[in-house]
Amino acid sequence: MKEREKTQAGDRKKLSGWANYPTVESDVFQPENAEELRRIILDSERIIARGNGKSYGDASLGKRVACMLSMNGILSFDPGTGIITCEAGVLLSDILPVIVPSGWFFHVTPGIKSITVGGAVASDVHGKNHPEKGCFSNWLLSFRLMDAGGAILTCSREENPSLFWQTCGGMGWTGVILSATFQLMRITSVSMHQQTVRARNLEEMFRQFEEQKACTYAAAWIDTTASGRDQGKGTALFAEHLPGDKALNWDTGKPADVPFFAPSWLLNPVSIRLHNQIYYSRNKPGERVIHLDKYFYPLDGITNWNRLYGRRGFIQYQFCLPGPASFDGIREVLNTISASGEVPFLSVLKRHGDRPSRAINSFPVKGYSLALDFPRTRRLTALLSRLDGLVWKHGGKIYLAKDAVSGAGMGRVDMKQFTEKKFTSALRERLEQ
Ligand SMILES: Cc1cc2nc3c(=O)[nH]c(=O)nc-3n(C[C@H](O)[C@H](O)[C@H](O)COP(=O)(O)OP(=O)(O)OC[C@H]3O[C@@H](n4cnc5c(N)ncnc54)[C@H](O)[C@@H]3O)c2cc1C
Repeated sequence: MKEREKTQAGDRKKLSGWANYPTVESDVFQPENAEELRRIILDSERIIARGNGKSYGDASLGKRVACMLSMNGILSFDPGTGIITCEAGVLLSDILPVIVPSGWFFHVTPGIKSITVGGAVASDVHGKNHPEKGCFSNWLLSFRLMDAGGAILTCSREENPSLFWQTCGGMGWTGVILSATFQLMRITSVSMHQQTVRARNLEEMFRQFEEQKACTYAAAWIDTTASGRDQGKGTALFAEHLPGDKALNWDTGKPADVPFFAPSWLLNPVSIRLHNQIYYSRNKPGERVIHLDKYFYPLDGITNWNRLYGRRGFIQYQFCLPGPASFDGIREVLNTISASGEVPFLSVLKRHGDRPSRAINSFPVKGYSLALDFPRTRRLTALLSRLDGLVWKHGGKIYLAKDAVSGAGMGRVDMKQFTEKKFTSALRERLEQ
């Protein structure tokens, strides 16, 4: 998949999300402006908005898709207040070179910068600082949304508030976001202070997170091939912004590329085990100063890394468990994975804080989430349905922006709130079955 996808209006093409599974044959429209979008919406019985296709599963797939990448202007940016208004198709990576030199950054950013502002709102993305900053919606002031009849509505906490909260994390099911206005965060340097800490098992890992509660950014990699007393061993990264007084620039260099799909056997239990051992031994405990880009977007250093999983693709399974259940639940999940013979390649543990009561569709609940990237095999769906059972039993939920196979209800989103059927994706059809 190209870094920025290009599509012709009304093209028939095969689309997938970042994990290259599933693939859906779609009529893809790429409106240049609101008037074109209105015509497309009015002509469609069913349609779903698509940003840059960086959700992993079937969230931005459907029989008809409105790809928003051509509506990509930064409409206004006030370097005095840090308030920015962008069209929905602008990528975070296009905003960064504009805001960073003026001393601004995102309050909340996911671990990838090639997503659109529309995608950030629709998934209500979170970062490594959820306890302190919440989701993207926390910093969203307003957006403009085109509804099924082609009308444009302004939504904020004051104007159309129900639609505002329904749309944040609403996965595109309320309409098409045209533009959004949000508040940025002051920074005085592009440097981060990062502390790397090793944990010998899951208990130690949770203790580290608790001890570093005051630290703004936290995320950990877990070696999912480790078992027995080593189960849950891994490396946690804690970080803070550093102050500075030098000119800020956003010069991030050119990423490496995976130019073609790797053979599907490349990531197998043996190679993944080896990779994990190397990763663990290379990430030595200690402190370092690291550039914003490398800290927040380490995976963007390699374009198209999803091709390493081969043409069969992969599935990212991300779930969040509420506080008291987190430790036992995650241990049970790791036990179940070990017993299954399936081996996830990447895994990321994050802690989460409370969310505003009205952000009913946001993914995180106060507790911990674990994201697991599984190469796709024949037995994987059976394992994931067992994991669904565990997540449900522990009162947790899965992240719809990553989902490709989970059962209805696993996102704990009340589907009945979305009464307008025009904006339907493959994900929504699956959840409503
Ligand atoms: C490497 C990687 C790391 C990631 N890390 C994180 C992370 O740390 N935290 C996190 O929260 N997420 C993370 N994600 C997920 C990603 O941030 C979300 O899936 C995001 O929504 C993708 O944005 P997109 O522009 O590619 O949207 P798409 O994938 O195209 O669409 C995602 C959803 O948004 C809807 N949508 C898109 N544009 C519009 C619009 N204009 N109007 C209405 N609906 C719209 C679509 O219908 C779909 O439901 C990560 C993804 C990758 C690939």
